Amino acid sequence: MTDPAADTQRAGKERISPPEQRQPEPGLDSKMQPKADHGEHSYKGHDRLKGKRALITGGDSGIGAAVAIAFAREGADVALAYLPVETSDALTVAQVLEDAGVEVKHLPGDLRNRSYRDSLVDEAATALGGLDILVNNAGKQISVESLQDLSDEQVEATFDVNIFAMFALSRAALKVIGEGGSIINTTSIQAFDPSDHLMDYAATKGAISNFTKSLASQAAKQGVRVNAVAPGPIWTPLQPSDGQPIEALPEFGHDTWLGRAGQPVEVSPAYVFLASDEASYMVGSTVHVNGGKNQP
Ligand code: NAD
Ligand code: MG
Repeated sequence: MTDPAADTQRAGKERISPPEQRQPEPGLDSKMQPKADHGEHSYKGHDRLKGKRALITGGDSGIGAAVAIAFAREGADVALAYLPVETSDALTVAQVLEDAGVEVKHLPGDLRNRSYRDSLVDEAATALGGLDILVNNAGKQISVESLQDLSDEQVEATFDVNIFAMFALSRAALKVIGEGGSIINTTSIQAFDPSDHLMDYAATKGAISNFTKSLASQAAKQGVRVNAVAPGPIWTPLQPSDGQPIEALPEFGHDTWLGRAGQPVEVSPAYVFLASDEASYMVGSTVHVNGGKNQP
């Protein structure tokens, strides 16, 4: 069992002003101040995903970790994909999933590696005995103030992880996910309201939103629903690992209508809904979870 007392420093749903901090990319939840709230002690399941099998990329931390916990508490078996350097975060999350009594599989690797990303979906389906849900959630975000300092290498890496991998994973997923299954892509408010210091990242998110619609139209013909979630500012390791300028962290999310950043646990219910049979008429849609911001 996980020890609630060990996690008392996790943030709640109050307004936080994180101290200036920096980690090398990808950041670790275990090194964040404060740690993010993935719903470890609050998310209650209602069998909405009982018996389903899900692959979640970036499932070790942040939004992906909260989705993994919620899916497990809703009765789904889960395969977690993440970078090998994030194994410690993944093991912490996996313990919470195991406590929910579901199967948990670990499929670490780098989505920039072609052979890894081309085989990941099949590996997950083999490990879980089939696949019903793919959550395309892994992402890379590096803030760069000026286009003059934004290297082609960074642009390529951001597109590779954020959107090119989605093509490969979705192609494979449509071969193994049966009728009634679903794919959920993590886009962002940046797709609709881009920040100038996140030029490459925001462009990938615009692409993901567009890709979600054309993929949804194709997949619907085989009874697989494709949708997206567009989070606003959420407190995750992405932000203190150069996702934002360091000096912006204490005020992160304070410009939303709620005046605060969201926690991963506040985003995961949207994924549960989209993955569940209750969302049987949701196709090509985007659920916006952003604390109030101008949005389409
Ligand atoms: P996070 O750092 O917890 O998750 C991102 C994950 O992406 C990492 O844990 C890592 O496992 C994975 N990843 C990165 N590079 C990879 C690579 N080369 N190979 C394999 N995996 C790789 O941060 P998060 O904020 O939870 O991010 C999850 C998703 O949410 C991302 O797509 C991000 O763009 C999106 N998002 C985040 C916010 C926010 O404010 N945090 C807002 C909108 C959208
Ligand atoms: Mg991580």
